[in-house]
Formats: sequence, structure tokens, C-alpha cells
Amino acid sequence: MKHSPSHSGCQVFHFGAWRWCVTRALELLEVHESVATFHEHASLAGMDELLPLKPAPEGYLKLVEVKVDIEYAMTKTDLTKPIIVALVIGLSGESLGPMVIDGWHRIYRALSEGRETLPAYLLNPAAAEAIRIPL
Ligand SMILES: [Zn+2]
Repeated sequence: MKHSPSHSGCQVFHFGAWRWCVTRALELLEVHESVATFHEHASLAGMDELLPLKPAPEGYLKLVEVKVDIEYAMTKTDLTKPIIVALVIGLSGESLGPMVIDGWHRIYRALSEGRETLPAYLLNPAAAEAIRIPL
């Protein structure tokens, strides 16, 4: 395995103060599926709110919207490839809930096509920590 310690050239997902190396996550999953729990049908309920699928209700402002390349999402994605989810851990070690770190284009396409679930890998805490990039 030849992973750059500086993550140069890696696919990195940013959310607020958190960054995860998606390249490293894919490497770990390839070597050992036990770094994650596989879910055949992860629910996409509510995720349309986070994507440019649904406008904010009249008078409201969307505070979070994940940017996607719509043409790429609709033509180049493979919906059989599991999305990757990590639990976000706060500064005091508390769990702040799950976050999709890879697969937003697949989610966009799935929701556009009326699907309600996608296959997903939920990384175990050690793997999620191993792919976190400190600030
Ligand atoms: Zn990396």
C-alpha cells in the first residue's frame, strides 16, 4: 500500500472542521471489509434537503447544500457501489451522528430516479479515525 502521508492527490471530503481521506477509506475497504458494516438498504430519507434537488420553502434559506455535478451524477455514477458513511466524533469524543463521506453524486441520482435506499458501508470507529485528516 502506498498512501501519501500528506494526502496529496487524495480524494478528501470536507465537512465543517472535519476532513476525511476517501482514498484511504477505499484502500482499507479493499483490503479488509471488516473495517465497516455493510448495509444493503441505507435509507436516503431526508437527504434531498441537503442536495440541489428541492428548493428551500418560500421565505427560508438552505444553510447546508452539498455541491454536485449533476451531469456526472446522472450519467457516470454506479448505484451498486456502496456509499461510505463515517460517524462524526466531536472534540470531547462524543458521537455527532453519521455523515456520508463518499457517494453524494450517487445519492443525487438515486433520489432523482425515485430510489429510497442505496447500499452503504458504515466505517467502524477505528477506521473512521484512521482516515480522519487532522486540521
Ligand atoms: Zn489520503
